[in-house]
Amino acid sequence: MHYSILSILTQALRGQQGWTPAWREAEPQRHYDVVIVGGGGHGLATAHYLAKEHGITRVAVLEKGYIGSGNVGRNTTIIRSNYLLPENTPFYEWSLKLWEGLERDLNYNAMVSQRGVLNLFHSDSQRDAFARRGNTMRLAGVDAELLDRDAVRALVPRLDFDNARFPIQGGLLQRRGGTARHDAVAWGFARAADKRGVDIIQNCEVTGIRTTEGRVTGVETTRGFIGAGKVGLACAGNSSRVAAMAGLRLPIESHVLQAFVSEAVKPLVKGVVTFGAGHFYVSQSDKGGLVFGGDIDGYNSYAQRGNLPTIEDVAESAMALMPGLGRLRLLRHWGGLMDMSMDGSPIIDRTPVQGLFLNAGWCYGGFKATPASGWCFAWTIAKDEPHPLNAAFRLDRFATGHVIDEKGAGAQPNLH
Ligand SMILES: Cc1cc2nc3c(=O)[nH]c(=O)nc-3n(C[C@H](O)[C@H](O)[C@H](O)COP(=O)(O)OP(=O)(O)OC[C@H]3O[C@@H](n4cnc5c(N)ncnc54)[C@H](O)[C@@H]3O)c2cc1C
Repeated sequence: MHYSILSILTQALRGQQGWTPAWREAEPQRHYDVVIVGGGGHGLATAHYLAKEHGITRVAVLEKGYIGSGNVGRNTTIIRSNYLLPENTPFYEWSLKLWEGLERDLNYNAMVSQRGVLNLFHSDSQRDAFARRGNTMRLAGVDAELLDRDAVRALVPRLDFDNARFPIQGGLLQRRGGTARHDAVAWGFARAADKRGVDIIQNCEVTGIRTTEGRVTGVETTRGFIGAGKVGLACAGNSSRVAAMAGLRLPIESHVLQAFVSEAVKPLVKGVVTFGAGHFYVSQSDKGGLVFGGDIDGYNSYAQRGNLPTIEDVAESAMALMPGLGRLRLLRHWGGLMDMSMDGSPIIDRTPVQGLFLNAGWCYGGFKATPASGWCFAWTIAKDEPHPLNAAFRLDRFATGHVIDEKGAGAQPNLH
């Protein structure tokens, strides 16, 4: 069913009885050309682009839970492309461009909202680093503006500008950055992939990866063996566990990251604001709740729940940046599983096992990458080689030393 004003009006006249499910409840077939493990944003986007860009439609996405139960439905929805290093800038900018056309492409309202992402700076040296980042972005054709304190105050007046420890000096603004409704992104990709013939199979956990003479032949699942010409892993926080099924040891640690939502209030924060002197960021949802997050929990875990010390830590940073937040009640919070790579950058690559491909290591920044990650992973799987956009996201860079150390924008696992 095509979603349009006409379909909404027609359904309204018919008492909303004619809507069809957004995707089929597919039964697993014996064999697929490509099996994607993990029905998060990246796995579903990969399936969509495999079908759309490469005409590969005998594809199954296997999800151990339900679509959106992983990080894609747990993140704080920020999208941006304010990166510094040449390995990252074109990839994330391509992602932002895909976001800009995504709703038309998927025929789905993902509530993409380019309300701006503002990174605050609190010292001269931080200002210089942000000026360098902004200049690099502009040279690469990406929008960036360095704002002074007054310009920041005009945008977000309720910050604590004169905080004795962390006075706000200014910020780096990317106006094209913003937010997107996270679970709608998963549903939109699922629906679009299904429409092109992809089987989306929920409640189907992969428990083993079968190989013969160094080549993948399929996956063992809780619903039986499923044969596959190629297998793509897009399991986010479970990447190392699933890759181990094929004998691979990944340079990845899994940690919990928590998110928080306050009670709804009138418009208070216009875009996304990140604190430059602590791990804290905040935006406001369309319903009015303040959405914020901070640092990862300091210990390794595969449990999708966090712990109290980090909550205190985040609350402390919140109070330092925006003391008024202390008057709000916290409505809910939750945790998701981060696949922390050791340089904070992702992996989209082939593996030493023939026909087995890996998409992992997104740390806390993989939501914004969802469209480009799926686009590049689909290319890599279809053509057996990386696209230039993901050529640097190699698995073997941790052995060769060619790491992509994007300090200040991505994860810094060395600090944890
Ligand atoms: C609290 C929080 C805030 C975040 N904020 C942001 C943000 O603002 N901006 C941003 O860019 N990024 C953010 N992120 C990171 C981002 O959400 C992730 O990097 C990204 O969603 C990971 O890719 P995914 O969507 O494919 O992951 P997921 O949705 O986790 O998908 C992986 C799927 O694999 C499935 N799976 C695992 N093992 C198996 C198996 N054996 N068999 C079958 N299926 C399996 C899981 O159930 C899961 O559904 C945040 C994350 C969290 C938790």
